[in-house]
Amino acid sequence: MCRCLALLLASVSTAAFCSDLPPAAGLSPKPGRLTIYLEKIESTTAATAAVIRSEVAATLETAGVDVRWHDGRGEVPGRLAVIRLTGSCLPVFAPIVSVGGFVPRSAEALGLTHVTDGKVLSFAEVRCDQIRKYAGEAIIRSTHSAFERETMLGRAVARVAVHEIYHILLGTTKHGKSGIAKSSQTPEQLIAARLNFAPREEQAISASVGSHGESQVTTAEDSDRR
Ligand SMILES: [Zn+2]
Repeated sequence: MCRCLALLLASVSTAAFCSDLPPAAGLSPKPGRLTIYLEKIESTTAATAAVIRSEVAATLETAGVDVRWHDGRGEVPGRLAVIRLTGSCLPVFAPIVSVGGFVPRSAEALGLTHVTDGKVLSFAEVRCDQIRKYAGEAIIRSTHSAFERETMLGRAVARVAVHEIYHILLGTTKHGKSGIAKSSQTPEQLIAARLNFAPREEQAISASVGSHGESQVTTAEDSDRR
């Protein structure tokens, strides 16, 4: 039985998490390595793909994670997260249609991480169609520049990816109270210049990644079969 964690799922808990994790030490821990395989990254433009990689790496770096990229072949030393981009990640957005009355925000999940028998797996999906639908209007309103729109789409995709990686790294189904670990974000937050973890989640991730050695060996192909 597999169920999924979903960013923007309204019913998820926002309770504090990982209270049993060790307190942050006075010294900054040595960064832990995480290898990420971005499956279907070719489904977007080169500019958006570059933004996705740089934003994911920069955000996780603030939490003490040294990100390496994997091409999907061969063995990987240390921890591996497989992030599959689904749908179209091209910077194409539906035109804005003005309607009267209240229009509720989309409650569609933008990303999901697989959970089996209560264990969070190292495999997640980032749903580009839903992201473009959710953040498209904010992107169109923000700029007329095609390059800047590609950049903003890359930021939004990266934030959803980092949110799912948070679930993977901590092996938790819970969410943070603020920052990128929150269960939901506004379109404006998804495309903003920066969206980091709150200090609590930064410390928890740093402790989690730093506590894992390099002895674990797995492959992207193994993860794909889960
Ligand atoms: Zn979540």
